[in-house]
Amino acid sequence: MARERLYLFDTTLRDGAQTNGVDFTLNDKLAIASMLDDLGIDYIEGGYPGANPTDTQLFAEPRGLNATFTAFGMARRPGRSTSNDPGLAALLEAKADAICFVAKSWDYHVRVALETSAEENLASIRDSVGAAVRKGREVLLDCEHFFDGYKADSGFALACAKAAYDEGARWVVLCDTNGGALPHEVEKIVGEVTRVIPGTHVGIHAHNDTEQAVANSLAAVRAGARQIQGTLNGLGERCGNANLVSIIPTLKLKHEFADRFEIGVSDAQLKTLAHASHTLDEMLNRAPNRHAPYVGESAFATKAGIHASAIMKEPATYEHVPPELVGNRRKLLVSDQAGKSNVLAELERIGLKIDKDDPRIGRLLDVVKEREAIGYAYEGADASFELLARRVFGKVPSYFDVEKFDITVEQRDNAVGQRVTVSLAVVKVKVDGEHLISAAEGNGPVNALDLALRKDLGKYQSYISGLELTDYRVRILNGGTEAVTRVLIESQDETGERWTTVGVSPNIIDASFQALMDSIVYKLVRSGAPT
Ligand SMILES: [Zn+2]
Repeated sequence: MARERLYLFDTTLRDGAQTNGVDFTLNDKLAIASMLDDLGIDYIEGGYPGANPTDTQLFAEPRGLNATFTAFGMARRPGRSTSNDPGLAALLEAKADAICFVAKSWDYHVRVALETSAEENLASIRDSVGAAVRKGREVLLDCEHFFDGYKADSGFALACAKAAYDEGARWVVLCDTNGGALPHEVEKIVGEVTRVIPGTHVGIHAHNDTEQAVANSLAAVRAGARQIQGTLNGLGERCGNANLVSIIPTLKLKHEFADRFEIGVSDAQLKTLAHASHTLDEMLNRAPNRHAPYVGESAFATKAGIHASAIMKEPATYEHVPPELVGNRRKLLVSDQAGKSNVLAELERIGLKIDKDDPRIGRLLDVVKEREAIGYAYEGADASFELLARRVFGKVPSYFDVEKFDITVEQRDNAVGQRVTVSLAVVKVKVDGEHLISAAEGNGPVNALDLALRKDLGKYQSYISGLELTDYRVRILNGGTEAVTRVLIESQDETGERWTTVGVSPNIIDASFQALMDSIVYKLVRSGAPT
């Protein structure tokens, strides 16, 4: 049976850009657009040309994307003609493949917010859609607050949608603008709309205010809608938009959808999903959500020993989909609950071939338990676990020694008379019998230590030049005077590989030093640096 085509519309650059603390530059926007294009998204909404310099520039030049690049803006203002509305003119002039207008579809909003009549609102929709169609653009209409509008006055809400469709809009998009609708309501209302407008012309735009944006999008598809709007990682103001990173694999991997529908994302593109999701976080300088469905680091992580032994035999016993399909991976957590099977599976994953009866496995398990008892947490620190394991099996070379380090923290006036606090670290290392001394200033003692450590490692320097710290987390365990500090450091290299290391000590500098050292040594091991 031929499958029906479902279209994906990404609004990360428009609705996603409304998120608090998100401020995309022109380059960010271009990079994200090309990433979305590589992922196989059908429509990319770039922003509001004419509304700000970045978006105006973005729409000033052709971009060479496969996706339909879409400009967003308001339908003409009430009481104006299309030729006398500068916002509309900017939209029509933008170099966009499609134009998405937003218009009211809730009578209450028309009265209170627009202060105009129902008839004038309908005329604005007809005029704007018509003008863009005549300009040769593909046209979409976002019906704002459609579900609230439909509940209040279904006749008026439908008339708004129908006006756009009759005027030649390719898509009429039903927006749950305040995110308050629930899946059963969406399914019922979309079902009623598709009796008037063919579902092949109906889209859904859901917000996540009741955490149902993904469910609402799927409910709309079940009821006949054939375009889904959303954002990468569910980025969006308030609680976010429908998360395409969850929707895409659900459409591709769950039978109810996969058997009936086809999307523009191929199996090969699906495998890049986790990477795309993490790349966006990287650009926003956020640590990726470990618990994100499908793509989070913990999405396929299992803790208890009995589960781990079953997963090793037959992954399908505990996993709803194979993690590789979305570019994620299975992870068996090593913790004080860990059985031997967990440790074996982890060793296999990191590529250490050890016989399952090797007595050193028991020793490794004992070491893990001992260290966890004093505060180490290997669940979140894969790379430190790998080093620990390799050390037990005698497989970590001694690349270099840190003979001593010294950190000073100084508060003083700078050249322009401002009070500043500066940290200076001096590190003495021994590489291949050679003593090297490096010094570096940092905005804090850990930063200074990190910079000094990585400044000159002699013959190893080229192996760590792409190494970068991406996250630093500190936790104080069992507070009071006996307090112990646990530091987790996340690092990344030039290939985009990320790893986490851990250090524990009553002294935060010491704990940080351990985690930094593990990160550097891990990178040297992974790069196959010679001893
Ligand atoms: Zn929205």
